[in-house]
Amino acid sequence: MDNIYDLAIIGGGAAGLAACAAASRLGDRVIILEGTSSVGRKILASGNGRCNLMNTGALRYYGSPLFAESVLSRCGAAEQTRFWKSIGLVVSGEDDGRVYPCTFQAASVLDVLKREIGSRQAEISLNTRVCICYKETTDCFVLETENGRKIRSRRILVAAGGTAALKPGSAESGYGILKRFGHTIHPVFPALVPVETDSRSISGLSGIRIRCIVTLTDSAGTELHREAGEVLFTDTGVSGICVMQCARFIHGEGCRLELDMADRLFPDDTELADELLRRIRRYPDTDAKTMLIGLVPSRISYAVMKQAGIPLRGEKLGEISREVIPALIDAMRHYRITVTGTRGMENAQVTAGGAACDEFRPDTLESVIVPGLHAAGEILDVDGDCGGFNLMFAFGSGILAGLNGREPGF
Ligand SMILES: Cc1cc2nc3c(=O)[nH]c(=O)nc-3n(C[C@H](O)[C@H](O)[C@H](O)COP(=O)(O)OP(=O)(O)OC[C@H]3O[C@@H](n4cnc5c(N)ncnc54)[C@H](O)[C@@H]3O)c2cc1C
Repeated sequence: MDNIYDLAIIGGGAAGLAACAAASRLGDRVIILEGTSSVGRKILASGNGRCNLMNTGALRYYGSPLFAESVLSRCGAAEQTRFWKSIGLVVSGEDDGRVYPCTFQAASVLDVLKREIGSRQAEISLNTRVCICYKETTDCFVLETENGRKIRSRRILVAAGGTAALKPGSAESGYGILKRFGHTIHPVFPALVPVETDSRSISGLSGIRIRCIVTLTDSAGTELHREAGEVLFTDTGVSGICVMQCARFIHGEGCRLELDMADRLFPDDTELADELLRRIRRYPDTDAKTMLIGLVPSRISYAVMKQAGIPLRGEKLGEISREVIPALIDAMRHYRITVTGTRGMENAQVTAGGAACDEFRPDTLESVIVPGLHAAGEILDVDGDCGGFNLMFAFGSGILAGLNGREPGF
């Protein structure tokens, strides 16, 4: 049996690696147990390989936003910038608050973490999936791995991530470990994921992008969420950051996305009506199909006119009744797309739901049920918007768990 460690970390992702770096520099004997053949795979995949590692703007968290704020008030963008600097990574902030490594390469983030961990003689054990975990004495945990290792540690950190971006059927062992210690796991569901829709409202639009305001409503028409940004039409629905940020609010049948394509162009309906009438007057002999060209991409303009009930059977603009203008404005402001679901956990960037945060302390991420047990990162019931919020929470909570209330050495 191996000697006793100060900290054994289940999972070598963002949270686990940051915790290891923070604890080992304070002299702790630390081991990371990683179930796969490499650490930091999601760090490498993040931000299209550029790794948007934090955000200096207003915090945008769901699940347990107050807990996330509490964690980040102790180890947020300023503290994390100091942490990165101390291990040799210079970060670069963009005007919109997003922060990247100055190399704009996710590999740099993983490289500095691995160098720091290596320099402290902390261990990383790959292909070491933890399957059983229990407390042997009041201050000693035992972790048993699938490859037959038995590890003893005074503290353990469950940083096993969520189920987002995993193949269906992948084990969700992190949740099971926390559950067996008496922790509550809130139902998990995909967040930051493309949306699937009925085929009618997206027919012929695949590949088109349009800037608009997106409103998600439930079956009763009540607004669930609203975002502004670029919508991308796909073969099976819609995507784009604004759509993905709506996805976590989709619950139950009958949800709908409404796209306001006119807001940026004509915030006022009267102005929009004047513009449409002007087109009818000015180009009476042109094909009615040209009604919205120059305002929205042509393929979308046909779809909008169809939704407004305007037949496109070769009519001229001058033959279009002015009575249809209100319906056309309505279709431009509320282009309706029926939601049938999301692209699922496999295609999600983050897991919503997870371990109940009120069972953990925001300063050390220690369990209030089992002393010495910590949890950090995506396994907790915290999910953030696009823009670096998820990695920022994973790194911040990981660092605090590693420090365990001690002064940081950075
Ligand atoms: C494509 C993509 C792009 C993204 N881009 C961004 C971005 O630009 N900015 C941003 O903020 N966020 C981004 N995210 C989200 C972000 O990457 C995650 O929220 C974050 O990495 C979570 O870190 P974590 O350490 O909690 O979990 P993970 O990174 O998932 O790490 C958990 C680790 O635990 C291991 N593990 C699980 N169970 C066990 C076990 N029983 N024993 C041993 N090991 C185990 C897993 O193999 C894994 O390596 C992106 C996600 C994806 C999928």
